[in-house]
Amino acid sequence: MNENLNDTQNITPEKTPVNFIKEIINNDLLTAKYGGRVHTRFPPEPNGYLHIGHAKSICLNYGIAKDYNGKFNLRFDDTNPSKEDQEYVDSIIEDVKWLGADFEDRLFFGSDYFDQMFNWAILLIEKGKAYVDDLSAEEIRQHRGTLTEPGKNSPYRDRPVADNLDLFHRMKNGEFKNGEKVLRAKIDMASPNINLRDPIMYRIIHDSHHRTGDNWCIYPTYDWAHGLEDSIENITHSICTLEFENHRPLYDWFLDELGIYHPQQIEFARLNLNYTIMSKRKLLQLVEEKHVSAWDDPRMPTISGLRRRGYTPSSIRNFAERIGVAKRDNVIDVALLEHSIREELNKTAKRVMAVLNPLKVIITNYPENGVEEVHAVNNPEDLSMGARPLPFSREILIEQDDFMENPPPKYFRLTPGGEVRLRYAYIIKCEEVIKDQDGNILELHCTYDPDTKSGTGTKNKKVKGTIHWVSLPYSIRAEVRLYDRLFTNEAPDSDKGKSFLDFLNPDSLRILRDCRLESSLASAQVNERYQFERLGYFCLDNKDSSPNKLVFNRTVSLKDTFKLPPK
Ligand code: ATP
Ligand code: MG
Repeated sequence: MNENLNDTQNITPEKTPVNFIKEIINNDLLTAKYGGRVHTRFPPEPNGYLHIGHAKSICLNYGIAKDYNGKFNLRFDDTNPSKEDQEYVDSIIEDVKWLGADFEDRLFFGSDYFDQMFNWAILLIEKGKAYVDDLSAEEIRQHRGTLTEPGKNSPYRDRPVADNLDLFHRMKNGEFKNGEKVLRAKIDMASPNINLRDPIMYRIIHDSHHRTGDNWCIYPTYDWAHGLEDSIENITHSICTLEFENHRPLYDWFLDELGIYHPQQIEFARLNLNYTIMSKRKLLQLVEEKHVSAWDDPRMPTISGLRRRGYTPSSIRNFAERIGVAKRDNVIDVALLEHSIREELNKTAKRVMAVLNPLKVIITNYPENGVEEVHAVNNPEDLSMGARPLPFSREILIEQDDFMENPPPKYFRLTPGGEVRLRYAYIIKCEEVIKDQDGNILELHCTYDPDTKSGTGTKNKKVKGTIHWVSLPYSIRAEVRLYDRLFTNEAPDSDKGKSFLDFLNPDSLRILRDCRLESSLASAQVNERYQFERLGYFCLDNKDSSPNKLVFNRTVSLKDTFKLPPK
């Protein structure tokens, strides 16, 4: 990138859309605030799997670093041992890499800075800017005051520095139980900003940490640790969600009192999606109470769930770019996410034929053991993807839905005595419906017209309906899983009187165990996506599918429900 700082053209890359964050960065580049550097990070706490909201943050931070030829860190904000776990660390690294956000060798852990943070805490104590408090959590809450009333000073607030130093070391050495003491910043109990009313910096937690083991029994709070981590890593633009706006003065206070490097915090509105929830605590509850199979259940809004469902990294990046960066909270229609993957797969997915609810059809005037090839186009949107031969035979399978004995008006599929075209093959006519004693349809007997073969047909005959099919002897079996939204309510989280669990959609998963697919799908790969003609986009399940038992997930249906909002 050209670093000519007098030329805005050169420092306003148009790779991702301009937004208010980029405007701030452009300005910082003009004034050489950080010497022309741009360095962002994604700072997850490893207490759950990442979700689509995190993906938004990753794409934003990584996109900015990339656009400005800057750097991007992945840093675990692992300061709370009781909720964190190595499983989460591993899944987060996998998800960030999968999204394509390349942190190169810059993988960091807040816990690696515990010594440095401790020394800085000592420095604040020595400056008279931090003290050890013996009040209980409940008493501290009572002293805090409200938005309209100032707080009250703790009786321990004016402890001599020497006592504070002694007590803080003894806290570190494990002399006290959980909750017996805390270290607090000494700022202002009357501040209109409650975050500045002597916030807690350290609490005692006798718990093993997933990285530091039992080295520590005092752990820094998020508020104390977060700005320090950004400062240590020389982050230039510390991008976070709006709820941290009121914490910024506190982060600034810590950095200023310590006299250390100062990143610029910029807040944006978090991503909210309708028909889903984004709270890690609630997502964990869904997993623990087995409302879903795991964090990567294809109905979950997690990155691993979306991946398993068949979403591609590029579809998620495009979605993140489309929704842009807002300064005020809003709710995005989940149909836009579905639109992003559908749009991509329409261009890239190979078309194949699959029958989910098979009904046997015998073509009585077709030779007994006869078989021939018909030619199927792999993608009408992209003819360079070629065509493939499909075997056609006397016995085929069609969808049960594609036949009706007593059809309503405008039903253009197969009916008794009616005709329909078999995609890429012939026109058939239903001559006889074979039923069991109870009247259930067992099979259809049809005839075909040999002069109507697709592409080569000599008769220019037209019928209104075309249906998909597979050859019975040349098809393979598979299980197919159809998904619907996990919640029936647009805002499952916001009904005061009810739990989000009350809105779980009982039909969010339908498993079809005896589907038949064209045989080319025997060699399907996990990373490939297919359009099952007329049924939607599908991919192999990355967990449950095996060569002995194919399992396909439906990523999305074909029908797009996303409507652009009126201007
Ligand atoms: P919690 O802190 O309650 O555990 P969290 O969702 O904030 O939950 P973090 O691991 O702290 O989880 O998040 C890492 C980063 O992702 C933070 O910078 C946060 O601002 C950002 N983030 C989290 N949720 C969203 C969202 N819905 N939209 C955009 N960014 C988000
Ligand atoms: Mg957070």
